[in-house]
Order: sequence, then structure tokens, then C-alpha cells
Amino acid sequence: MSKTFLVTGGAGFIGSAVVRELILNTEHRVVNIDKLTYAGNTQSLATVSDSERYFFVHQDICNRDAMEKVFDDFQPDIVMHLAAESHVDRSIDGPGEFIQTNVVGTYTLLEAARKYFQQLKAQSAEKASGFRFHHISTDEVYGDLHGADDLFTETTPYAPSSPYSASKASSDHLVRAWQRTYGLPTLVTNCSNNYGPYHFPEKLIPLMILNALAGKALPVYGDGKQVRDWLYVEDHARALIQVAQQGLIGETYNIGGHNEKQNIDVVYTLCDLLDELRPSQSNTEVTVNSYRELITFVSDRPGHDLRYAIDASKIEQDLGWVPQETFETGMRKTVEWYLSNQDWWQSVLDGSYQGERLGSL
Ligand code: NAD
Repeated sequence: MSKTFLVTGGAGFIGSAVVRELILNTEHRVVNIDKLTYAGNTQSLATVSDSERYFFVHQDICNRDAMEKVFDDFQPDIVMHLAAESHVDRSIDGPGEFIQTNVVGTYTLLEAARKYFQQLKAQSAEKASGFRFHHISTDEVYGDLHGADDLFTETTPYAPSSPYSASKASSDHLVRAWQRTYGLPTLVTNCSNNYGPYHFPEKLIPLMILNALAGKALPVYGDGKQVRDWLYVEDHARALIQVAQQGLIGETYNIGGHNEKQNIDVVYTLCDLLDELRPSQSNTEVTVNSYRELITFVSDRPGHDLRYAIDASKIEQDLGWVPQETFETGMRKTVEWYLSNQDWWQSVLDGSYQGERLGSL
């Protein structure tokens, strides 16, 4: 049966993958609420925005009246809350926006959802019984791991290190409190680092690809030995849609790809793929023999977590989700995508993607 999904942050990296998956591979209706900050890009939705099942609301999740109106107008069955400020370095330079969107925005959305859920219970017990609020979060809330074999599980205590992860930890706690206190049917997922198509070029993998293609230095923090657990974004989107529909209310699911890599090895992999793929697909004038020659080590980020790694066995056992891509296949797809979609990233680099803003809020 067709449902209505309310997706926040659907013009962002992961949100747009969720929206594309829902429109292209299901029959569901999607309402995308996005403020279109620098990280929101409507061009990432070009393949789905003409669908009659897709609706866009240009709005800030901190606007309570507007959020209540969206719930009233669209009567959603499932909320998938991805809107956030998401870049750790930006949170160190200016934490205020992170507190506003990630904490106050989540609170505002929870309150609008609570009011809507109460109305739903009074009007239609059947519709109310299917309602779900799925909050999308990060494994960075757990802090970092020091033992080489340790993994984050759903019961690992929270110990966030950066303003970003602290704001996400706060939002996770709010969501669980709204479930315990008010009976709002919520779910939380915490995922490892994502990579793939349509990733904003400030993040490690797209930054390295685009710097390499431009013949610029490839800056690696510290000694590059920080370990991250990488998941292809479309695998994450499929996991999220499955949890939103089949996860047990009140539960948390960790999502990860079993792909622990040191940052320096990620950069080596990208350089080697570009060395291999560049002759046939790139028209850049870079003269290095190998892109590895462009790697430079820069001062480490303050508070930089050493290692993250996810135990994803609960979602695998309870819901049968497994990633479709390995690190090798996902990285190859990603590099190929950036080589074939220059228009998308060029418009981000030159700022013209922001010309599509639909008026300021
Ligand atoms: P992103 O920065 O690419 O996108 C965020 C989106 O939210 C943008 O479209 C932006 O315009 C929108 N937004 C920001 N503030 C808003 C506001 N006040 N109101 C409405 N919209 C607003 O982020 P992403 O990488 O796609 O991450 C999405 C979610 O997944 C975040 O909650 C993040 O914490 C979580 N997450 C990300 C990763 C990762 O590796 N990127 C991993 C795990 C979890």
C-alpha cells in the first residue's frame, strides 16, 4: 500500500539518496522539507523532481507553525528525519547553527509530530497504529574506540567529542525521551561514514577526488591513521527505508558496512582508481605520474577521534539487511560517478547550484 513519507533534509547527501530510492523503487509519496542551506542541492533530485509523487517544501525545521502545517497538509505515515548540520569542521568553527538545527530543530519537529499523532489517535486508530518517527543519526555519538577489536553496539555509552556529535547525541536523547514520555512511536539509527554520488565536496572522499582532478594537494589530517567504517550511501538509504517500515518501535539500529579503513588507505585507493580511470574518462591536464604524489599531511583536527567501527549485526539479524556494495565496488562506482557527472560538482564548486534557491526563509 502506498504511504506518505515526510523526509527532512531530502536535498542533502543521504536524504537525496533516500528520496531517489523511494520515488524510483517504491510506490510511496515523498514530501521533502529542506531549508536549502549550503549543503542542500535540488540538482541532486533532478531524476525524481518531476514525479507526481514528489513534493518539495522549502522550510526550516525550527519553524514550529510551518512544521505543524506540513503535518496537517500531508498527513504523513512515516517521518524520516535527516535534516542537520553535518560537517565536523564547520561545527568546530561555529557550533551555533548545529545547536539550532540539530537540537532545537529536532525538538520542534518532535513537538509537531506529537501534536499530529495525538490528533491521529483521535481520528483514526488504524492510521495512528502505523505512524512512525525515524530519527537518523551517526556513530560519532559514541566517541572513539581505542581497542583495535572493539565495535560500537546499540548499547555503547554516548561520549561525543565534537560540537557536531554532541548536538546529534542531544537529538538522539530527545527522540528517545519523546518515545518514553509521550509514547511517540520512534526509531533511531546510528550509521558509520557514508560515501557515494552527490556528496558535497567538503567531505573527505569527494574533496580528494576533485582536488586530484584539479592537480591540487590532497590534504590528509595528522598521520592519516584515523580509522573510519565506510558505507555506500545507497546501501544506507535502503537500510533506512527498511528500518522506517519494519523496525520495532523504540529500538535503535546501528548501520555499517564492515569496511574499516585508515584515512590514508582511503586516499591511496582513490588515487589508484583515478590513475586507472583517468586516461579514458578525464580531460584534465594533471601531469603527475600517480595521484599519490599529491598527498600532503596537514595538522590534525582538534579532538579528532581515532577510530570508529560499527557492529551492524542487529539490523542484519532482525531485519535481514546487508550492504550490496563492498568498499572496492562502492569506491569504483563513486569515482566513476564523479568522472561522469562534472556538471553536478562544477555547479557546486562555482556556487551556481545556489542560484536555484527558492527565495530566502
Ligand atoms: P547533508 O549536510 O548533506 O544534508 C543536510 C540537509 O539538511 C541539507 O539538504 C540541508 O539543506 C538540510 N538542512 C539543514 N538545516 C536545516 C533546517 N534547519 N531545516 C531544514 N533543512 C535543513 O547531511 P548528510 O550527510 O546527508 O546527513 C544526513 C543525516 O545523516 C544527518 O542527520 C547526519 O547527522 C546523518 N549521518 C550522516 C553520515 C554521513 O556520513 N554523511 C553518517 C551517519 C549519519
